Amino acid sequence: MSRIGKTARVITTENITDSLLAITLHTPDLAKWRSCQHLKFETGKGHYRDYTLAHWNEANKQGTLLIDAGHEGAGSNWARLLRPGQALLYAGPGGGIHQPTAAAHLVCLGDASAIGHFSSLFHRKGTQQQLYTLISHKQPLPLKILDMPVDTTAGYIAGVERWLLQQPFPMSDTTFYVAGNIPLVVQIRKLIKRLGAQQIKAQGFWE
Ligand SMILES: Cc1cc2nc3c(=O)[nH]c(=O)nc-3n(C[C@H](O)[C@H](O)[C@H](O)COP(=O)(O)OP(=O)(O)OC[C@H]3O[C@@H](n4cnc5c(N)ncnc54)[C@H](O)[C@@H]3O)c2cc1C
Repeated sequence: MSRIGKTARVITTENITDSLLAITLHTPDLAKWRSCQHLKFETGKGHYRDYTLAHWNEANKQGTLLIDAGHEGAGSNWARLLRPGQALLYAGPGGGIHQPTAAAHLVCLGDASAIGHFSSLFHRKGTQQQLYTLISHKQPLPLKILDMPVDTTAGYIAGVERWLLQQPFPMSDTTFYVAGNIPLVVQIRKLIKRLGAQQIKAQGFWE
């Protein structure tokens, strides 16, 4: 990290909910932004955690992370203690394989750790494309996060299935993006295949 690490500085920290944090950083070394890129942060000595750039503003070189910090963990504890002015060491960006496709409908399904991943798709999709996001989460989330419309279900897989059956998108013109907790991603993938999904882009984050 001392050889490849770059420095970002915290501009603001905001509690979107008790457990979801929006951290805005100045990242002067970042040249280009694609959807679904993550940065690897040094969260403590010998501890590194990946967080996705939910949005990045080329003009002022400021990017926002959305961090699910409702659990005990090196990354979660680090995120809760971040303060404006603090310097952070990171490597990257990495990833960026998942991009908005040309489908008319982009459907994002996952948990709160994936909101940044989905937001990065929302901010780079075409203006005519519709993006829908459903997050499996115990408490209701705001209806919009970084301008992206968000639905919440507390019903885990059954809740995801109920929601999907109420949506108007045709499977032949829809790309599904699934991300977050690995067992959840596996189950959602099985569910949407059973419902006829033809294009699925899945990425597991944690177990
Ligand atoms: C490519 C990539 C991009 C990612 N982007 C983001 C992002 O933008 N935002 C984000 O919040 N996370 C993101 N993650 C996930 C994040 O890096 C992991 O959740 C990480 O494990 C959290 O680290 P931790 O130190 O807090 O918990 P850990 O020390 O890894 O785990 C401690 C305990 O907490 C549990 N746990 C871990 N994460 C969660 C969670 N989110 N909710 C509930 N329990 C959890 C674990 O199962 C374990 O029991 C990303 C991961 C990858 C691989």
